[in-house]
Amino acid sequence: MTRTGTGLRIVALALGLAGLAPGLAAAAPSSVLFDVGKLPLPAVQGKEIADSVASFSTTYAPRVTGTPGDEDAAQFLAAEAKALGYEVEVVRVPLAPGGQGTAGTAVVATRKGRTRPDDHLLFMGHYDTVAGFGGVTTEGAYDNGAGTMMILNLAKAFATVPTNRTLQFIFYNGEEEGLITSEAHAQSEKAKDKKVRAAFGFDMTGIAWPVAAPDASSCLCIWHGEDDEALEKVQRHVNFKTLGYPDGENLVELRGVNARNSDERSWDILGYPVMRWAGRRTAASYPAYHMPDDTMATIDRVAGGRTFFEQGLRNTLVSAFYSALTLDNEMPVAQVTATGSGPVTFDASGSTDGDGVPSGVSWDFGDGTTGTGAMVTHAYAKPGTFTAVARVADSLWPQVATTAKVTVTVTTAAAPTTPAAAKKKKKAKPCTKGSKRKRAACRRALARKKAAARRRAAARRRG
Ligand SMILES: [Zn+2]
Repeated sequence: MTRTGTGLRIVALALGLAGLAPGLAAAAPSSVLFDVGKLPLPAVQGKEIADSVASFSTTYAPRVTGTPGDEDAAQFLAAEAKALGYEVEVVRVPLAPGGQGTAGTAVVATRKGRTRPDDHLLFMGHYDTVAGFGGVTTEGAYDNGAGTMMILNLAKAFATVPTNRTLQFIFYNGEEEGLITSEAHAQSEKAKDKKVRAAFGFDMTGIAWPVAAPDASSCLCIWHGEDDEALEKVQRHVNFKTLGYPDGENLVELRGVNARNSDERSWDILGYPVMRWAGRRTAASYPAYHMPDDTMATIDRVAGGRTFFEQGLRNTLVSAFYSALTLDNEMPVAQVTATGSGPVTFDASGSTDGDGVPSGVSWDFGDGTTGTGAMVTHAYAKPGTFTAVARVADSLWPQVATTAKVTVTVTTAAAPTTPAAAKKKKKAKPCTKGSKRKRAACRRALARKKAAARRRAAARRRG
């Protein structure tokens, strides 16, 4: 083998790592957002969500905090989440003195993450309804049957989807009394140093994009918490770049800092990263806001038909689902070196993944051949310059990968494989076929042949 120039040739160019001095193996964390579009879309359809809103809001009405209807709704949500495979806890939160005098209820459904179980993605909203109206039953179909069922259906969508972080779906009462349950719950979780990647809030969702007749208050509206400007990059990545939602007024709008405060606000003020989804820009633009006629009939009328509500619900669910998976995963960082000028040893073992260990490396050697493994040696058939490509797969989702190129100069080609050499290699072991007697006869015949050959060779030497 001839060696020319430096043995250690190239370090990966992926993700701005070009220029690393040979021998340096440090890989910077990926600044590229996760390629979530390669992951399957959630299976839950808009009709399922709309049907569940209709059923929940009429079966559990009213759901005023501290009443039997409130407790029945909480038990229903707990049972549903349990049936989906989540670990469910009905947390009773002592409320601040001077408050309602009763404990608040938070139904918390949990599934542990694989590699980062101490970090959380939270999905939250309120299931309670406003009190009052002289005994008139309030179904609260839109406020907040729609958000409650969005959370339950997200739990359904994630039931079979693995995550690195722990998922929690949280249903609060006490929202209509001034976020009193979520405030007490968030404070007690903060006191336990809870780590949260992001908290997602859902209140009055689904009369969004599309609706039959867009107006001044119409959009699939998405906000982020205070000091969470970085999340806007995630929102853009998911909604416009990946899902191809229409970016525009009365369509899908990223509306900056949260102006539609609900339970996620209780987490926002404690410094947790927050996102919020709602249909329409303001609560008051929904004509039945906090009124007895907050029913499915009103939702259908405002959306312009059930089909529009179903599509708005589905678009909201997909947006939240992909946002969570984007935040749950980091792109692998590829780090590649090539040593030698023939054969060449390729090494991608310095590659990293912020969520674990890359699940595998595959290679295209640039000469029409391929290979697999973090470290591989390849003999090129001809001298020349070749660009090899390494594909470093994500720890959790192997269909997502970072690629890195490395250029090699080969001066020594692999020894050509002659037909004779190939034949010799393939030659079968003698006398392995047939019965025991046949094999013995074969061996005796072979021995006689060899002895005869030795005698002939000795005769030739004697001349
Ligand atoms: Zn609400």
